[in-house]
Amino acid sequence: MSVEADIINRFFKKKTSAPLGIGDDAALINKNTKEYWALSQDTLNVNTHFLPSTPALDLGWKALAVNVSDIYAMGGQPKYALVSIAINKHNMPWLEDFSRGLHQCAKKYGVEIIGGDTTRGQTSISITIIGSVEKKKVLKRSGAKLHDDIWITGQIGLAALGLDCLKKKITLSEAAEKLAIKCLYKPSPTDIQSLQKYQLFHSAIDISDGVIADLSHILTSSNLSANIFCAQLPVSAWIKKEKAFDYALYGGDDYQLILTAPVKNRNRIKKLAAQKRLKITHVGQVTNEKKMMVFDPNGKPMKIVNKGFKHFVK
Ligand code: ADP
Ligand code: MG
Repeated sequence: MSVEADIINRFFKKKTSAPLGIGDDAALINKNTKEYWALSQDTLNVNTHFLPSTPALDLGWKALAVNVSDIYAMGGQPKYALVSIAINKHNMPWLEDFSRGLHQCAKKYGVEIIGGDTTRGQTSISITIIGSVEKKKVLKRSGAKLHDDIWITGQIGLAALGLDCLKKKITLSEAAEKLAIKCLYKPSPTDIQSLQKYQLFHSAIDISDGVIADLSHILTSSNLSANIFCAQLPVSAWIKKEKAFDYALYGGDDYQLILTAPVKNRNRIKKLAAQKRLKITHVGQVTNEKKMMVFDPNGKPMKIVNKGFKHFVK
């Protein structure tokens, strides 16, 4: 268990009267007989979650987008947000850009900003998001079933590649670097409600810490395991060519979704996704083996290392 999870479990996890408390992408409280409110909070701290050089416009976008993905991961629709910011000084041009990015993202995902807090401190943005989800369509991490297909929305790995470009750990063509950095700065979470309205999926999580770390949360909650096939991962041509699958497996910041669904829904998911122009890729299976297995493009098992993003390292 990560140190972060250990802290949460030891000090904060208590019994709750809410239908779902700590341990998923969002907590659930009753809205009415048919719907829940889904509530979640994500924070971006300077130097931990973003480089000080991050453009303010992109930071405003990203601070909200990383919360939107948590509501999508519950099968819900984001509705309202409270925005808490800590800044060192009242730099007006920075605030103007930051708020513009925030409002652009709010408009795109149908979120209204209804409150927040403004304080002085090291730059940090913490957003509480509130969404609505139909009880019948809710997706919990614990919902995966044996033999489910594992699906991933959008493309993954580019955000982590973008971070390596910014840190000069890797050099790509100008266009490739620009695209990767854009994915890091401006994540675009995928709304799967147009598919989940037919209740096609069993479980979901958003990918903030890499496929291995985040899929593990589903598997632990569901008491199951998985086989993942690298050849099927929705990664860029460069990652495929270089076999740099670690960017997708262990790199964070994609904010796409991992979902599981019964095999019998496979063709329906593919057909509906094509109709809705929604990118979703089948990448593996849920198993009841002892541990998760990842297979390289030649079908050989790869060593799984424990290196998804962690806030506290033992
Ligand atoms: P996510 O990656 O989806 O944001 P986290 O891994 O940050 O989720 O958190 C896991 C779970 O623990 C979530 O349900 C979250 O609400 C809860 N959690 C995290 N930190 C705290 C805390 N300090 N107090 C109470 N609950 C927390
Ligand atoms: Mg999440």
